[in-house]
Amino acid sequence: MTTVAFIGLGAMGYRMAAHLPQHFDSVLVWNRNVDKAKQHAAEFNTQAVTLAEAAQADIIFSCLPTSHQVDEIIHQVDIKSGAIWIDCTSGVPDIARTQATYLKSKNVSFLDAPVSGQTIGAENATLTFMVGGDAEVFDKALPAMQALGKLIKHVGGSGAGFAVKAVNNMLLAVHLCAAAEGFTTLKAHGVNLNEALDCINASSGKSGVTENVLSQRIFNRSFPNTFALLLLAKDTGIALDLVRDAKLSAPVIALSQSLIQAASATSDADSDFSAAVKMYESWSKITLE
Ligand code: NDP
Repeated sequence: MTTVAFIGLGAMGYRMAAHLPQHFDSVLVWNRNVDKAKQHAAEFNTQAVTLAEAAQADIIFSCLPTSHQVDEIIHQVDIKSGAIWIDCTSGVPDIARTQATYLKSKNVSFLDAPVSGQTIGAENATLTFMVGGDAEVFDKALPAMQALGKLIKHVGGSGAGFAVKAVNNMLLAVHLCAAAEGFTTLKAHGVNLNEALDCINASSGKSGVTENVLSQRIFNRSFPNTFALLLLAKDTGIALDLVRDAKLSAPVIALSQSLIQAASATSDADSDFSAAVKMYESWSKITLE
């Protein structure tokens, strides 16, 4: 019998862990705010446990805001020898390598396995996993990730998964800034934004932002907080650090990182990532609706 634990029942983790009881006999959940774990147990037939108990599972998923919270927990508990730790946080590649080495000394395997697909992908078990770590560990952990995702790729050694995720989210940031600039310009010229969006989505300028974010979050002014702007700002910082570590020049990445940081610094702490466009709206006095 394989016991699986999930640590961190936030916007993503709560939904991801909900699928595990369909695939495993014993599913343990831990959350800092214990009430959320108890609610999860009642709703999905999981078991709310202490952190020490969760660390005794055969497979341990974590999904926390940053690698720092994961690191704290990894160093705080005794993890079962032979366990596999699958970290779905959008984390820092260097920290993944350090964690993998530390855990190896305890006979625990570590995969950096961040996900994309947002809360809806977590809810429907259609997430994309981009995974770094040993290939044999990836093969062993694959069925557990398949319970939560659709496209699951081993992209390289430790840290590679986090690197792919950081670059993906940097591209999201670039597209968000570019769309805010492009669509405020169109509105300044009296263009119908919805008609323009249809044209662009049938043309070469389309992106995930034009296909989903503009109509579902921005034009309807809903800005639902499913992925925090603060977290996107964190991801753009990780991507810029990767550029610097490689001693490359990436002006678009550097500028987008500054813009997203500025938007995050001037927004409410609980703002959705899509609310970054409000910075452009305040500059231009043009509302994207
Ligand atoms: P949330 O802010 O919704 O949840 C964060 C979780 O981490 C909560 O369970 C929270 O516990 C816990 N937590 C925070 N600080 C600590 C701490 N110091 N010690 C222990 N637990 C802590 O985040 P998301 O679920 O949105 O994001 C999680 C990760 O997934 C992030 O790295 C994010 O970038 C990434 N991600 C998010 C996506 C999204 O659409 N939301 C999509 C893809 C990736 P508590 O309930 O007690 O506050």
